[in-house]
Amino acid sequence: MTAPGRRPLLAANWKMNPLSAADAVALARGVLPAARRHGERVDVALFPPFPWLQAVGAELEGTRVGLGAQDCFWERSGAFTGEVSAAMLAGWCGWVIVGHSERRTHFGETDEDVARKAAAALAAGLRVVVCVGEREDQFEAGQTEAVVDRQLTAALGPPAVEDAGGLVVAYEPVWAIGTGRNADPPHADATMRVVRRGLDAALGADAAAQVRVLYGGSVNAANVRSYVELASCDGCLVGGASLKAEEFSNMIGAVV
Ligand code: PEP
Repeated sequence: MTAPGRRPLLAANWKMNPLSAADAVALARGVLPAARRHGERVDVALFPPFPWLQAVGAELEGTRVGLGAQDCFWERSGAFTGEVSAAMLAGWCGWVIVGHSERRTHFGETDEDVARKAAAALAAGLRVVVCVGEREDQFEAGQTEAVVDRQLTAALGPPAVEDAGGLVVAYEPVWAIGTGRNADPPHADATMRVVRRGLDAALGADAAAQVRVLYGGSVNAANVRSYVELASCDGCLVGGASLKAEEFSNMIGAVV
């Protein structure tokens, strides 16, 4: 369970869903009652696709529910067709995810890219969810700790250090994302402890204590408690289950 001084966080990564602004607004509306009911004890943040940020943001106006994008680019502006900068996002939302494994896998993002994105996002005043996690072959080879440590160290370059208050790290084993094969809580716990140690080493204990560490990978209403009750876990990053308002609402209730 989250340490005193850190509030639990449930972050909803909607990925490339839903297909219309109307459905995105309806999904946000569907989770608001639970987010309001439990808002004193758990933070909730929604990460819709870029085109729905404005409409979902309007729906969340006046609530404590956070709004974020799923990626950003590190340059402020310029000839980067198709990219959206952290500086641009700062006008529309307060959060961003960087280094999600789907971006690393499908779009070739490197640790260095992730570090630049995290630094740009923090500099723009955004709160940043940095994703780390091993692939299945790395898991089978017992390389989880080394991989996570390397990704974390790369992401926490010097620019990120002074902004620890805006930082969240999500441990998401790649083999658990969207597969229904959630990591055993002891494996998640051991790896989140590796993350916590890495944060302490990189940021110093005081700054690191502000950073929340999440688990992500096939989390749903039935298993969310098995993660959030771990001392190492400050909440969850949720993909598929966050697209169902009722299930995600039940998860919000289960965290408190
Ligand atoms: C994710 O996309 O970050 C994720 C954890 O997805 P899922 O919950 O569907 O495994």
